[in-house]
Amino acid sequence: MKTTVATVEDNATNLEICKKYCGACPTFKTNKLRESPPHALFCALGKSSIAENVKSTGCYCPACEIFTKYHLTIGYFCAK
Ligand code: SF4
Ligand code: SF4
Repeated sequence: MKTTVATVEDNATNLEICKKYCGACPTFKTNKLRESPPHALFCALGKSSIAENVKSTGCYCPACEIFTKYHLTIGYFCAK
């Protein structure tokens, strides 16, 4: 492991936080990302299974406390 960046944990607490941001995000709603795995918490679980078809219309990740806590950058974890 070369990186020292902390990995976002897949746990219930983080999922609840994610729901506040991804859940309200226009990209999430427009592309119905909830219906395809991993459904949410993309920064921990990886991009959506329908990532190739996702039309990006904004990302709320930069407002999310997990984004700040783990020093994430850019966002759009559902699509990239
Ligand atoms: S940074 Fe984005 S994908 Fe990760 S928990 Fe927050 S809203 Fe969800
Ligand atoms: S990762 Fe960003 S763009 Fe994708 S659903 Fe979550 S907030 Fe929206």
